[in-house]
Amino acid sequence: MILTTPAPGYDVPALFPGIERCSATATRLHPRRGTPDRRASHLGGPLWWPADEPWPACAAEHLVPVELAVPAAVRARLDRADPARGWSGYEAAIAELASEIPGFGGVDHRTGSALGYSARREPAPGWKVGGWPAWPTTDPRPMCCVHCGAPMRQLLQIDSGEWGDPQRWRPREEDRLRPGTAEHTAASEPTGVVAGRSGLYRIFGCPCSPDAPVLVDPQ
Ligand SMILES: [Zn+2]
Repeated sequence: MILTTPAPGYDVPALFPGIERCSATATRLHPRRGTPDRRASHLGGPLWWPADEPWPACAAEHLVPVELAVPAAVRARLDRADPARGWSGYEAAIAELASEIPGFGGVDHRTGSALGYSARREPAPGWKVGGWPAWPTTDPRPMCCVHCGAPMRQLLQIDSGEWGDPQRWRPREEDRLRPGTAEHTAASEPTGVVAGRSGLYRIFGCPCSPDAPVLVDPQ
């Protein structure tokens, strides 16, 4: 069945001359409920897939944008830079940031943060001290010390389970455990602690000043 979209109520190009240069063709799919054949185009429903072919999984490292606080000393140097006295001080401070932050993309002077990119690897799940924090429910957000502005490091991760993706993180010694058994539960969820809705609870500390207050972030 061919479905027809009515013409717009206004002559948009006449109202906004030149806007037609920004037009793009959209093909409306008009999905409707039905019982699709496996070979026909459809959204959802049964999928034709070779029985001996593994389900595809992405193994690429994804770059995600990060926003880090500019260290106070570097920020002071940036603030002192004066065009009348040449930009060498400014350029030196920027070069220092670029050497420390992967994919450095500049400084947001409004927020005082440096922008860059980071390869997102899957951080280890389970209870752990140190290591990288995971951000499964929000985008990564800067955790900065309220005293000195330094990027904080994860001190402790409290997790609702130990294995995350079992194929990747389950210890080899526990491969033999069968789901549904008490032994399996004792290994995969040993503490019985559930953070939020089966998530994470992390504590961050400042690497420069141990007396600074810690920050917590639930995921
Ligand atoms: Zn600090």
